[in-house]
Order: sequence, then structure tokens, then C-alpha cells
Amino acid sequence: MVAVASLLGLIVPAFSVGRALGGQSSAIYSQLRTFSLASDSATVENLTLQRDRVVITFVQGIFYFAVPVAGKVRGAVFVGTGNFHSDVPPDEAERANVRRLLKADDISSDFKTAVFQFTDDTYDFIGKSAKPGAAAPPQAQRLATELLKSLLEEEGLNLASRTMESILDGENPGIFFAQFDGGKRQRFSFLFDPQTRVPVANFEINAGEKGLIFAYDSDIYSSDVWLAFFSKTDYESGRTAYSDMFNLVDTPKYQLELDLREPKKTLSLVAKMDCTSRIDGLQLIPFSLGEGLATYEAERRKKQLFVQSAKLADGKPLEYFQEQWESGFTVALPTALKKGQSVTLEIALRGDFMFNPDNNQGVYFPRSTTSWYPRHGYLSRSTFDVVMVHRKRDKAVTMGILVGDTPAGTMDDIRTEFRVEQPVALITFAVGDYEIHKDTAKSESGATLPLEFYSLPSDRGAIKEDFILAEMNNAVRYFSALFGDYPYTVFRGVYHPFGYGQGFPTTIMIPKADRADMYTYSFISHETSHQWWGDLVLWRSYRDQWLSEGFADYSGLLYTQKRDKTSSEKDLIKRARDNLKNPPRNLTGLGQGRLVDVGPLIMGHRLSSRETFGAYTTLTYKKGSLVLRMLHFLFT
Ligand SMILES: [Zn+2]
Repeated sequence: MVAVASLLGLIVPAFSVGRALGGQSSAIYSQLRTFSLASDSATVENLTLQRDRVVITFVQGIFYFAVPVAGKVRGAVFVGTGNFHSDVPPDEAERANVRRLLKADDISSDFKTAVFQFTDDTYDFIGKSAKPGAAAPPQAQRLATELLKSLLEEEGLNLASRTMESILDGENPGIFFAQFDGGKRQRFSFLFDPQTRVPVANFEINAGEKGLIFAYDSDIYSSDVWLAFFSKTDYESGRTAYSDMFNLVDTPKYQLELDLREPKKTLSLVAKMDCTSRIDGLQLIPFSLGEGLATYEAERRKKQLFVQSAKLADGKPLEYFQEQWESGFTVALPTALKKGQSVTLEIALRGDFMFNPDNNQGVYFPRSTTSWYPRHGYLSRSTFDVVMVHRKRDKAVTMGILVGDTPAGTMDDIRTEFRVEQPVALITFAVGDYEIHKDTAKSESGATLPLEFYSLPSDRGAIKEDFILAEMNNAVRYFSALFGDYPYTVFRGVYHPFGYGQGFPTTIMIPKADRADMYTYSFISHETSHQWWGDLVLWRSYRDQWLSEGFADYSGLLYTQKRDKTSSEKDLIKRARDNLKNPPRNLTGLGQGRLVDVGPLIMGHRLSSRETFGAYTTLTYKKGSLVLRMLHFLFT
């Protein structure tokens, strides 16, 4: 058994590095992550490489090639002079985005260095005149080594894993990645991933886009995506497959066992996942994890969950690959799966993933409520069985129905089990000093729905639980009449001390929202309506996420109109319109123009950028709601 060497040297604790069993994948992985340059090089002049819509011209310089991996050259470093050019596809929103971020109509830059990793036919073009010679200069080797390190830190992207997966899962066409530096646009990257894996996992760009041009922006601790694009053939045919069509597995069922006995700090988790292959010859399965953690203050390095072990249901250990800073990990299967074949993976994870709000209220949450367990693809639906072991003084709660709570192991701990029987996309949990308040919603047909609110005990904070339960009760009955039966068998609110709400299936996470005014009415009803908009009806990509927030915000307006005086709805609409006329905020204060003009709703989270902070929220919630209100008026 050989431990894979660490990229970052001695500061990396051993647990962060994938367990290598000496199999085929660990040998390939180790070579890819070392990214050693061989003594082969090629001197080129005016060589042009076209990858989809991007044209790269190597005016003059030398390529240094990587040691072949699995029989082929998969990487290179170029030192010299060159030019990068990409036109912008026929898409007004992308054009506006490039103008906003680059003040230009296309993406052009010279460069002095470029680093490549690829599994496509790039070497056929750049390696034609390769000759053995002297060892590559240290500058070239340093560029190769730095590339993998910076991508992990800045994007959470493990390029070595992605390249290995492309090789071992036999992808055709393969991937292409290049990072340029030393020119007008300084350091920037271009990725073409025909399987859409990296855009989905590392950029939440998941509507079928295969190409990305981006640059890390140290002012905002994340990347500016200058351009995201479909393939040229996609544009020509006018059609593209959604990114989820490229998923490698379906994950219909999760069994999660959480150890929450150190709730201020540590989360230990065993995730059993049923995985069914969607392709023939599946060897490697990548999972997302902790992508909600930030680069800022090295949160993703310090607080991530690290894989402790990976095995099959029969106990057979599996190879896995995970690096410091990575927002995920990859598991290697002992034998390739055929399409339709299933395995159950058992992954043990541990890290300082718990968030302690530090306000002496005694309630604790995962740092990222949507990325604390492994997921493949984006918003796949699964059923969940969740067991939480916690201190006797605490209560633990997650989505679905409470199956029961019993003493665990020692009599000082409790084992609380929940079950989500309908397939849902996302779940979270909370643990702490909760007090449960109950109510029942009765529909006109006589059906009853149990309501719960997990509140603070009165000595920790005064919350009017009766008011909150009454609002949840009103809202759930109103929307059941309007949108169809409530989709689940329980409706629950859980207190969290944050200035926003999150509507998970069966459960809304909300702050102390107990002042009888139009803001509270629209807020609780907005979160309640997510049971339909966002939970029952899910969005498929960031381009239609506005439907979830737009419908929820419009639902909040409809409810407030009934619940409060009629002028309240008009008041809220006026505020929404006023918000949309505000200028966007940027790094130096206020930007140009109006939020409403930043871009179309289908740009989703990409509406927000270093030039347009907050544009996503204002547009998807407020413009989204007003668009739906307009349609409601037109069609009724
Ligand atoms: Zn919402």
C-alpha cells in the first residue's frame, strides 16, 4: 500500500489525502497530480490550436511536455508569446456579461505562459515536432505544479481527479483545460468539458454549458466567469442536453448516520448511498461535498469533511481521492459497472463542519446547509433515512417524519431517527436546546396535517411560537387550496438565528419572525410556499432557479393580500419596483444603471458579479415575482 504524496508538503495532515490501494487508478492519479514534465519539448512558431470557439495562437516559444500517463501525453507547459481569442456566442446576456466584466466585445489577450491538461486530441496538434532533449526548466515545472494547487484553493477543483476520471471512464471526446498568464488579461483559464462535469461541480453552471472562460478574483475570493458557452454544434442545432443528462449515477437512496455529540464543532457522518450506473464501463464516481464553504479565511480547507474510509456494502475497501481544499472527492470501483448496475457505497466522513453561532442560544447547524453530505450531479432526488446520535440535553431534527428517539450506546446519548419517503433534492439538519411546539392544520375536507415549531426555550430567547404556528397554519391551508394538496405528511418550522429563511421539503428554517406586519406575513408564507415551489417542483438548472424564488415571492404577495389590509400588497409591490430601479452595488460603492437592466432572469446566480452585487436576489425574487404577477393577470 502506497500513500499518495501530498501536493502541499508536510503541512497536509495524512487524513486529507486519498487512500491508495496500489491499483490502476492510484498509479494514474499519482502521475497526474505530480504533473512531472519529461525531457520532450517542441519549438513552435505561429502554431494555431482551435478548441471549440476558442483560437489559441502560439506565436513563438517552446512546449514542454508532461510524462505520458496511461500511454499518452496529457499535459504541457508553453513558454513564449501567444494570443488567445474567443468570440462571444450569439447570446445577448453573455455579450452583456463580457462587456460588464471586461469592457470588451470579445475575449482576447496575449500571454507569455500557458499550462495545459487534457484528454482530447490536443497532443496531436502541439506535439507534432516533439523531440527528446534536456530536462524542462524549473520555471516550467513550477507552472505545472502551481496549476493544480491554485485550482484546488480557488475553485475547489481537483483537476488531476477530473483528468483521471476522463481517462478511466473512457470519455470521448475528452476534456481540455488551459491556464494563461503574462498578458493583458493576466492569469485566466479556459475549460472545455463535453461531459459538463466541472461547470456543474465547481461553478454551479449546469444548464448544459461545456465551455468556461474564467479568472480568479482575489477581491471577492471567487472567480469571475467571463463566458459560459454550449458547444458550437449545440448552437448550430439550436438544442443542448441539460447537464444532468451526463450524470454517471443515480442515487435513489441515502442512509445517513450522524454523530452530533460535539455539536459546536465536529460532524462525523457515515453515508450509505445506493448508486445505479447510467453508463457502461463506470470506474470512477465523483461526488460534490462542502462546495458551500468559502475560499475566504481558508474555510474550505479548515472546515471541510474529510473521507475517513470508503467501502462497498460487503466491507470491501475502495480507493478514494480527496485533496486539501477540494470541494468533493472521487471513489474508484473495484470492477467497472454496466449501465443499470447498482452498488451501495459506504463513506465515512469527519471534519469541523458544524457552525456555532456563538450567541449562547445553544443551537447548531452545518456550516453549509446544502453541501454537508456527498452528492453526484446537481439536485438529484433521493429518499433519506437519517439517524442522529446526540447528547441527551439536545434535540436533533432534519427533514421528513420522526421515526423515533431511543437511548444510544451509553445512556447519556440519544439516537433520533427521521425518514424522508418522497424523493427530494436537499436536506439539512439542526441540533441543540430546542423546545417543540405543536399545532394541527385542518383542511375543509377534514384532513389534518401535524405542524411543529422547534423553538428556543424561553430562557434563551422570547419567541411567539403561537403566532409563528398560526401563520404556518394559515399559509399551508391557503396554498393547499390554491396549488393542490400539501405534498408531505408533516409541516415543520425550525428556528435558526440567521436573517433569512430556507425552505426544505417538510421543514422551513426561519429566524424569530413573530412581529405581526406585512413583512412577516410575506416572509413566512414565502418560505411555506417553497414546499410547492422548490421542493415538490424543483428547478433543474441555475437558469430556472428564478421560478422557485419568483413563485415563492409571488405566493407571499398573494397571501399577504388576504392576510393583511389590501394596501399591504401594493406597498410590497412598490418596494419591489423601487428595488429594481436601484443601481447595482460594486466593489467601490454604487455601479452604473439599474438592477433591472443587469440581465435576464435566466442568468440566475450569474447576475451577481464583482460589478453587480445583489443582482441575483433582487432580480430572481422581485422581478421574478412581478413577471409571474403579470402572467397571472394576463391569463385569468
Ligand atoms: Zn425563497
